[in-house]
Amino acid sequence: MAGSTIALRLAELGISINLFEEGRSLVNGPPICHLHAGGNLYREISEKQCLDLLKQSIDTLRVFKYTANIRPTVIAVPMDDKGFPCELLPRLKVLNDAYSSLVTLDQRNKVLGEPSDYFTLYSQQDLERLQQLDNPTHPVTPDEWMIPVAKSLQLDQFKYPIVMVQEYGLSVFRIAATTALALDQMVNCHTLTSTKVTNVQYESSSKQWRITYRTSDNSEQRCHVDYLINACGYRSGSIDDLAHIPRERMVEFKAAYVTHWAQCEGEWPELIIHGERGTPKGMAQLTPYPNGYFQLHGMTQDITLFKDGLVSSSKCTAQPVLNASFQEKLNRQWPQTEVVERTERAIKHVAQYVHSFKDAEVGGKPLFGAQQIPGTDPTLRAADISFSGCNYARSEIVKASSALSAADAIVAELINKQLIAQPDKSNAREQSFPITLGLSKDEIVSYAEKIAEERGFPASLAQPIG
Ligand SMILES: Cc1cc2nc3c(=O)[nH]c(=O)nc-3n(C[C@H](O)[C@H](O)[C@H](O)COP(=O)(O)OP(=O)(O)OC[C@H]3O[C@@H](n4cnc5c(N)ncnc54)[C@H](O)[C@@H]3O)c2cc1C
Repeated sequence: MAGSTIALRLAELGISINLFEEGRSLVNGPPICHLHAGGNLYREISEKQCLDLLKQSIDTLRVFKYTANIRPTVIAVPMDDKGFPCELLPRLKVLNDAYSSLVTLDQRNKVLGEPSDYFTLYSQQDLERLQQLDNPTHPVTPDEWMIPVAKSLQLDQFKYPIVMVQEYGLSVFRIAATTALALDQMVNCHTLTSTKVTNVQYESSSKQWRITYRTSDNSEQRCHVDYLINACGYRSGSIDDLAHIPRERMVEFKAAYVTHWAQCEGEWPELIIHGERGTPKGMAQLTPYPNGYFQLHGMTQDITLFKDGLVSSSKCTAQPVLNASFQEKLNRQWPQTEVVERTERAIKHVAQYVHSFKDAEVGGKPLFGAQQIPGTDPTLRAADISFSGCNYARSEIVKASSALSAADAIVAELINKQLIAQPDKSNAREQSFPITLGLSKDEIVSYAEKIAEERGFPASLAQPIG
């Protein structure tokens, strides 16, 4: 995500890029399903992080125009949780004001609907009223989106109000398709997939980095670059080690599960049931896709989180080391019994609150991966880039929407170092990404479906909602 986005931003400026990716296609890391347009899934993070995520998400939708699944997110606090919905409200109001101001500043920021609809509150009586209505075929208003939830949620199990917020879905497959199709049109970007960087070395005589890489035919090759950007996700520490540049970071392995709910009625928003992370009552997340597919997270040790799944760097290495069972999952495959066991637990976790969801079935292999978190605070969610050494940057995004902010910081750094000329400052996002924004929705969706299938997932996961 970060490497491809930074390459897009720089290549659109005409800068010559080599983009290395070990996998077969771009945007090949852990899953991305939710656009954190306000960070409302995270009760524990600061207001500043929420505002950063809101702004970054708006920018992301202005550039990655056809990658959002346009449906809202419902956030509910269950009776047995220590928190209260009223505690969410002050931050929602701050976010709502910030969104209104951004739209007033520039109408092109209006990518999350009308600011007055950024969030809506529902009492139990409101939901009992909505329960009586038919599911609309194409929901548009917050009330219409709420109908299927009102019909299926165990209303007595929740504290009120229940919140609906305009945090959309984000399609990792359509982002992958967008970056690949756009970069393919730019002759100044040399994209090398199935290619692993095996060494990096700064040569002070030439003030360049020498990159050694192994291509798909197993041949070892070298090139020299003026500036090196390490965007290796959870493996960024291995490149820091090769470059002899220390860094503290954590790596966390997590997984989400693909299910199919054939009996699903109506078009669903995303549903978040808050809960204490790491306990059996950890947050449940039900993310809808077309044709009855739902992706599930359950923030318990038995579902999304794993015992020993969070590891830290040490004095000897900037690369946190996950144990062999995680390496097996990341590099080869999951045992099928564990796929079924964890997916079924995820279904049961959601069915505590949506009883009819018990009929859902395993719908595919898990979406999983390891993500880096820079520093020592495991709750950090809004981070972008750090600079150290000579002409060296490392992307440290935790959420996909921070990738453009990392790319902007690189552009500023390259200008500062006089490696590139100052681009026209009056250029809005739209003028900075003419090739990316010239792609059509149809070509992105059909390429995204192909990528999903190539990676062994149902094509429905690549198709748009809304
Ligand atoms: C279960 C789960 C759910 C998530 N859900 C969301 C979500 O809903 N929304 C959201 O915004 N974020 C989500 N995230 C986080 C998001 O996936 C990551 O933040 C994001 O993928 C990080 O992007 P990145 O480019 O930094 O790293 P990555 O996506 O990991 O990319 C790094 C790339 O570098 C390549 N690479 C590594 N080493 C080398 C090398 N030596 N040579 C060549 N290539 C190399 C890898 O193949 C990889 O493709 C989720 C993460 C997990 C684990």
